Amino acid sequence: MSEEKSYDYDLVVIGGGSGGMATARRAAEYGAKVALIEKGALGGTCVNVGCVPKKVMYNAALHVEMMHTLKDYGFNSEFKHFNWNHLKTKRDNLVKNLNEVYEKNLKKANITRITGIACFVDNHKLQVNNSFYTTKKIVIATGSRPRVPTNIEGSGLGITSDGFFELDCLPKKSVIVGAGYIGVELAGILSLLGSKTYMSIRHASILRTFDELLQSVAMEELEKNGVNFLRNSHVTRVAKSTDGTLVVDLSYKNEALRLSDVDVLIWAIGRDPNTEDLQLSKVHVDLTSTGHIKVNAYQETSASNIYALGDVCGIFQLTPVAIAAGRLLAERLYNNKPYAKFEYKNVPTVIFTHPPLGSVGVSEEETIREYGNEHIKIYQSRFTPLFNAITNKKTQSAIKLICYGKSEKVIGLHIVGSGVDEMLQGFAVAIKMGATKADFDACCAIHPTSSEEIVTMR
Ligand SMILES: Cc1cc2nc3c(=O)[nH]c(=O)nc-3n(C[C@H](O)[C@H](O)[C@H](O)COP(=O)(O)OP(=O)(O)OC[C@H]3O[C@@H](n4cnc5c(N)ncnc54)[C@H](O)[C@@H]3O)c2cc1C
Repeated sequence: MSEEKSYDYDLVVIGGGSGGMATARRAAEYGAKVALIEKGALGGTCVNVGCVPKKVMYNAALHVEMMHTLKDYGFNSEFKHFNWNHLKTKRDNLVKNLNEVYEKNLKKANITRITGIACFVDNHKLQVNNSFYTTKKIVIATGSRPRVPTNIEGSGLGITSDGFFELDCLPKKSVIVGAGYIGVELAGILSLLGSKTYMSIRHASILRTFDELLQSVAMEELEKNGVNFLRNSHVTRVAKSTDGTLVVDLSYKNEALRLSDVDVLIWAIGRDPNTEDLQLSKVHVDLTSTGHIKVNAYQETSASNIYALGDVCGIFQLTPVAIAAGRLLAERLYNNKPYAKFEYKNVPTVIFTHPPLGSVGVSEEETIREYGNEHIKIYQSRFTPLFNAITNKKTQSAIKLICYGKSEKVIGLHIVGSGVDEMLQGFAVAIKMGATKADFDACCAIHPTSSEEIVTMR
């Protein structure tokens, strides 16, 4: 008769960010004996240097947007002074509070918190500092970190999104490198708050994995808000001047360009998975070609008893995805739901630019690539929302609805405009349920709103 081996824990989770916290808490809820290893502050990227502090900064910039329309609405107050430090203190306090809430949540759930860097000894044993912990199962939820180029002279003089949250004053002149959503969001914030902002992008467009409509409207709106795009450019060298500002040399449309008096250069060129400390070779966990942890639909790695989820797997690097994948894994392992797994399809996402962008389902380009032109119908509209009907500064709204087959099943919705960040969630439910264009049409409009345009498209 085989005897069940005894371990210190049923489950050890590595990483106390969105995915790790969610997994640990759900597993403990079902009675598992759980430990969580975190090397830094609880809450991970989202709470400390991601979604939460970013949204606070986005909200600050929203005020500037509104100030541009005050006069049109009959107010005479003017935007005189912005106190970055005041905002930073409030934002940092919010983050600190959340860290404490996370600590309390672990305690309440009876989860042991281990502080330090975890690495594997074998499939059932982890080391942190000089201590060892044995466990039946392990979840890797170690997230990712911003990339800094290593082949550009002076690249270390730049900062990343992590450093953005450490800035103690508004930079007068900023250069952001990268065309992904993090760079785009930071460019929007800095520019609206008053920093002269340049975006160096390698190609002609930003957000190139999103629908073309979102790319073009986002660029137009960011330009209106003062962002200077350096299309088809890349940084060749960064140096520090005697006054402490940076000199950034670029190749811009194949010509040399120098930007001087730059207060801050932000690399937003992608993120790398946090795997290097884990000593994964000891447990034969396979990686993808991009260095992310390879998992199947059930978050299982190539090593038995070892699972991975969230940013470290490189698929949909979003907080709710990491949380859902973690909770569902715990349901499967500890609540007798053998088929529970996250459906990596129709994941809605919002980019917090001014105005925001929202996307769920496939883009037009992806649809044509997958299905060809034949069975697809696209509804599209661009309009000025009622809010801007009486304002000098206009902000555009745009909608693209992608439908498939005879039934015109809605397989993609891409929207841009004020309020779409709060608008998308409900439409994402409908799309997840398989709604057709006829279902959208049958839903009575709410007037006067921008969302009514989505159910009245022709
Ligand atoms: C600027 C920015 C803005 C963002 N905005 C949004 C947004 O608006 N909406 C959204 O959904 N997502 C957003 N994201 C993405 C979101 O933050 C991530 O997708 C999410 O945090 C991933 O969760 P995770 O659990 O996989 O990893 P993380 O939250 O990064 O947690 C990983 C944790 O593991 C710890 N760790 C790593 N290695 C070890 C080790 N060896 N031992 C112990 N601990 C270790 C790290 O310290 C970290 O705390 C944003 C990200 C950034 C950078």
